[in-house]
Amino acid sequence: MKDRLVVIGNGMASLRFLERLTERAPGRYDVSVVGAEPQAAYNRVLLSSLLGGEVDEAGCAFRGLDWYESHGIRLITGAPVTEIDRENGLVMVGETHVLPFDRLVLAVGSVPIRLPKPGMDLPGVLTFRDLADVTAIRKAAVEHARAIVIGGGLLGLEAAVGLARLGVDTTLLHVMDRLMERQLDHAAAGLVKRAMEARGVKVLLKADTATVEGDGKVERLILSDGTVLPADLVVMSVGVRPNVALAQNAGIAVGRGIKVDDRMQSSDPRIFALGECAEHRGQIYGLVEPAYEQAETLSRHLVGEEVAYAGTSLATSLKVSGLPVFSAGAIEAPEGSETILMSDPGLGLYRKLIVADDRLLGAVFVGDIAEQGWCKDLIRTGASVAAHRDDLMFGRTAPQPLAA
Ligand SMILES: Cc1cc2nc3c(=O)[nH]c(=O)nc-3n(C[C@H](O)[C@H](O)[C@H](O)COP(=O)(O)OP(=O)(O)OC[C@H]3O[C@@H](n4cnc5c(N)ncnc54)[C@H](O)[C@@H]3O)c2cc1C
Repeated sequence: MKDRLVVIGNGMASLRFLERLTERAPGRYDVSVVGAEPQAAYNRVLLSSLLGGEVDEAGCAFRGLDWYESHGIRLITGAPVTEIDRENGLVMVGETHVLPFDRLVLAVGSVPIRLPKPGMDLPGVLTFRDLADVTAIRKAAVEHARAIVIGGGLLGLEAAVGLARLGVDTTLLHVMDRLMERQLDHAAAGLVKRAMEARGVKVLLKADTATVEGDGKVERLILSDGTVLPADLVVMSVGVRPNVALAQNAGIAVGRGIKVDDRMQSSDPRIFALGECAEHRGQIYGLVEPAYEQAETLSRHLVGEEVAYAGTSLATSLKVSGLPVFSAGAIEAPEGSETILMSDPGLGLYRKLIVADDRLLGAVFVGDIAEQGWCKDLIRTGASVAAHRDDLMFGRTAPQPLAA
């Protein structure tokens, strides 16, 4: 009899894992997948485009149900797993299914954080994580609606631009003094702010939400300095928390996420975790690339290959409604390093490189991010940049200095 492999969660990490596993060893396991959402895995990254109406739901789909079927995968959707019984090797899906497992993969992603402030449970206060959220936001974003997005990180920016594109009066609140402060320095964040404003989003920095109020539904948001902002909908985008509840209840070791080793194995050798719910070497990730690398690692491990995931060097690359932004490594120069800077606010161009001992420590680009892949590799490998400084700043076609 084949080993029974159950995967909990059918998001981006889960699907990539299933694809790689079935490519490597078709039919090796008897595979069941249980997803809480009603749809099979889709491209979550495109939810911002879906919100803004640039793609439709079909454009976010990955694999049709026929793909799962033709690969012998039993897919159960719209059914959250409620319990893992490790002693008996069972996964419970409410009252409806009991799935026995020999190997279990947790790919349950994250849950959006709701600010612990009064009024956050009022109707009209929404999160931005899945297709159901986008449907709810679009439904609330009617003509003349006033929307407030809380959170000036990547997702908050994307939600705000999407809402503005729908013609909604949109204000973005961020508690810090600049947008995307973990990825951008002040100058780059300033350009992004201008780009947001050019797209019709009002941006309020150092804006600390005190409470949301309304009679039966959200009507206004009040800042801690007393400012009152009328609102018909509030989109909360203040971060996510790895989904650890199932693992924790089953007695699997968790820290901020489900703790895994370099093979994505949890504290129980039959159980693995990957994607946003996993914590590897103390690190949790909120992006697709690490989730995909982890999926690759686990698929190889489960077909008996020798493999070790060493972590993913993180870079952020996004488009704020057409404005490309890239950030990797350090964003502020540590002592003893050099900063190479090029800034043309008129053209919306900004490039900053942080170099120490001829090694690239960090890069922040706005406007033109053509060299992003190269910079990312240089930061990751620590290779010498002595011969490439001009190219890094101006592109690989930069004129070479004349020989003396
Ligand atoms: C709007 C938006 C834009 C984004 N843009 C980018 C981007 O530009 N670049 C980038 O790198 N990343 C981006 N991300 C992040 C990226 O989508 C995630 O990092 C990625 O989806 C993580 O994959 P995952 O499989 O770990 O989690 P998910 O894709 O969230 O999948 C987890 C799945 O598990 C399900 N689940 C949870 N609990 C249970 C349960 N008990 N039983 C069954 N199923 C369960 C969930 O419903 C969900 O479907 C974006 C995210 C959002 C929301």
